[in-house]
Amino acid sequence: MNIVFLGLPNTGKSLLSKKLAEKLNLLYVDMGDLLRASNDPEIQKIIARGDLVEAHHIIKVLKDHLKDKNDNILFSGVPRNLEQDKEFPYKIDLVVYLYLPEKILFERLEGRRICENCGKIYMLKEIDETIDGVHYHFPAILPKIPGICDICGGKLIKRKDDSPEILKHRIEKFYEETYPLIEKYEKEGKLLKFIPNGSPNEVLKSLINKIQERIKNEN
Ligand code: ADP
Repeated sequence: MNIVFLGLPNTGKSLLSKKLAEKLNLLYVDMGDLLRASNDPEIQKIIARGDLVEAHHIIKVLKDHLKDKNDNILFSGVPRNLEQDKEFPYKIDLVVYLYLPEKILFERLEGRRICENCGKIYMLKEIDETIDGVHYHFPAILPKIPGICDICGGKLIKRKDDSPEILKHRIEKFYEETYPLIEKYEKEGKLLKFIPNGSPNEVLKSLINKIQERIKNEN
């Protein structure tokens, strides 16, 4: 089974998809991570602007990374538009779409820090509010020593592309480029819309339940 994870920026896509891949025994492929690791300066410029890297680059980076592997993969953040979807050489069984209201996305941005060494993500701010009748609660995830990663002792920093202007641009790009893809998978009955609400463990548990329900109903 291959799963694709799509979501508005700052919905916690990377962390959640990584944990889900572990639980379901899928190979985890995060397109943002793969691109950030590339040493092509053009790609780095595109990421810093919050724009999308071209489809042919994306497919090449993926193929080089995956070699012959083509099943039991969790793709986080790819395909991200209809063009990439057309060229995507892997089957897609389920698309998980992570949704949060925009206001929450900006608040999460403010509190988010990442370890520059191991990539662990921290949240310096608790979010607790109700929007359109839905209560959103995200506890803070604090390091034991301020500014220092619990796991590896690395320095906690703001990611280069984590600014409100870039977030706004990424949200616009999401609705322009990725939303049509989400509509396509909804029509095909492969979409699971999910609101990642609560602590990381609660969110993971609830998503696994939803996926298992979905698989049961299909069999
Ligand atoms: P986010 O989902 O919050 O945008 P990611 O870490 O997934 O964060 O991606 C960071 C950046 O990498 C994106 O803003 C974009 O520039 C680039 N990127 C990631 N995935 C893709 C993709 N599938 N196609 C094109 N560009 C991508």
